[in-house]
Amino acid sequence: MPDASQQFENREFQTEVKKLLDIVINSLYTDREIFLRELISNSADALEKLRYESVVNKEIAGQDLPLEISIELDDKEKTITVTDTGIGMTRNELVENLGTIAHSGSKTFIQQLNESDQKDLNLIGQFGVGFYSAFMVAKKIRVLTRSYLPGEPGCEWVSEGLGSYDVRTADGLPRGTKIVMELKEDAHEFAGAARVKEIIRQYSSFVPFPIKVNGEQVNTVQAIWARNKSEVTEEEYNEFYKFIATAYDEPHYRLHFTADAPLAINALLFVPKNNFERFGFGRMEPGTNLYSRKVLIQSHSENILPEWLRFVKGVVDSEDIPLNISRETAQDSALIAKLQKVITGRFLKYLDKESQNDPEKYAEFWYKFGMFIKEGATTDYTYQKDLTSLLRFESSAAEPGQLISLADYAGRMKDGQKDIYFINGPTREAIEAGPYVEAFRAAGYEVIYNYEPIDDFVFSNLREYEGKKLVSADSAGLELPGLTDEPGEEPLDSEKTNALTAWFKEILGEKVSEVKASSRLVESPAIILNLNPMMTNSMQRVMQAASRDFGDTGRNALEINTRHKLIKKLDDLRQEDAEFARIVAEQVFDNALISAGLVINPLDIVERINRILDRTL
Ligand code: ADP
Repeated sequence: MPDASQQFENREFQTEVKKLLDIVINSLYTDREIFLRELISNSADALEKLRYESVVNKEIAGQDLPLEISIELDDKEKTITVTDTGIGMTRNELVENLGTIAHSGSKTFIQQLNESDQKDLNLIGQFGVGFYSAFMVAKKIRVLTRSYLPGEPGCEWVSEGLGSYDVRTADGLPRGTKIVMELKEDAHEFAGAARVKEIIRQYSSFVPFPIKVNGEQVNTVQAIWARNKSEVTEEEYNEFYKFIATAYDEPHYRLHFTADAPLAINALLFVPKNNFERFGFGRMEPGTNLYSRKVLIQSHSENILPEWLRFVKGVVDSEDIPLNISRETAQDSALIAKLQKVITGRFLKYLDKESQNDPEKYAEFWYKFGMFIKEGATTDYTYQKDLTSLLRFESSAAEPGQLISLADYAGRMKDGQKDIYFINGPTREAIEAGPYVEAFRAAGYEVIYNYEPIDDFVFSNLREYEGKKLVSADSAGLELPGLTDEPGEEPLDSEKTNALTAWFKEILGEKVSEVKASSRLVESPAIILNLNPMMTNSMQRVMQAASRDFGDTGRNALEINTRHKLIKKLDDLRQEDAEFARIVAEQVFDNALISAGLVINPLDIVERINRILDRTL
């Protein structure tokens, strides 16, 4: 039995909490009503945990208390009290939970504040800083709580949010948590029933426990995912999405499905409108919650969907999953693996169907979330086939901005064409102005345009599509049947060509593996090609950037266009001024490297160009 002095303690808040409270109390004046969403959500979590504990048969205190949240308003005293019959907290938990910051939302918020120079404080609504947000509206808060663990005494926590709080043991409390807030002068509206009901309707309609305001229940408790599709309205779906995703807008996609075999599943999944990972908000946590017969087993589960589907928000309920599965056991449970397979397969099929039904809507999805599909296609072999059909690209045969699939490409390949061609470049304009697509243009082959480095890694992983090899247009040794000799400039004869290519190779030395006459160039004097079929220029670029290695092009071939005026004149120049011809040859090579987007040493170039200019002027 603790003595009186042990029972009462005055404790300092952790430094981060002080900082957070200072902001909450002194700087936040808009969206203050979200404090209620935060408290109700804490209560709902505590109730979910209690429901879980009672089904896995642990002994719990207060067996017969109904699971609910009640809100009492006192318009005279200007107080609002939120009470739940959830798992409650022991004294240690109370000190740990309401004196330090454990919550990831508040951590991110503080971090964001430091980074954003306190500019956008109202991001608070997006992050939710949990319990502490109650100090936006309360000048003093009392928390009375008692754990569900039999034999634990109750506890009281009191604070004005100014640096410290008091804790003491409190007798006679029922299981659960009661939070009493004395409202600030300018926050008296939150003691009014109409205002409070409106807030609950807006933010907390889908909390799966009764919420009562002064004794009257204000929400309809329903597991929307377990209801029949035809009975759920569009509006209910959207509101539910906002609730589980803490979103303000409507979802981009929605999939609601029920299965009986191989597992009994009720799932409701959403794709949001925006991908915050793209905006540099850091890696998202998984967005789906796992239930079994409406009992929450894991929120933000890492196991129901693969990592690259972390942007999907929703609920998966399967009565085949045992309730006592823990995070650890879930990871290597064969049952969960099966569940993941069924749900992922179903979701990818849904996306595929949507992409056919409404290509424009899918294009919007693709621009925002395509990175996740590519992530899956490069890391997850299991779903590679389904992911392949979801990939979209621009191509030489489609209008700018219009997307095609590999199936589109394959369906219109030329007679006799065996491979699928692609090329990587920073933009459509850059690709079309460069030397790589000119042969394809002349011979009438479609080329897929990749704009991001990961695209080439995706292709190199896939290797082929329906038996057709995926070939980069910068590979050496491509055969392009149908590329006819255009009448016009005569090429150098073979004797001259052999002498010229040998001369080039001597000058460039180890920088290239071979130099030969090109059969594919039309307008450009020279081109760098890859001898390694598994490598593209873009992939080389990524590797060069990683190793900071200038001009590591030893695996490349230089092909020259012996019909080109520049090359022919260079051949003449060799006889007249060997020294200057050498400089020009080096520049021709560097120009080809630049067109390939490969790293070159700019200082060498500047010096060389100055010498060339000097001679021309
Ligand atoms: P979060 O709920 O996001 O973790 P909070 O700061 O709101 O962050 O709460 C911190 C912790 O305090 C919670 O994780 C929970 O363990 C505990 N807690 C808060 N409210 C309650 C409650 N009503 N019942 C039981 N525990 C609670």
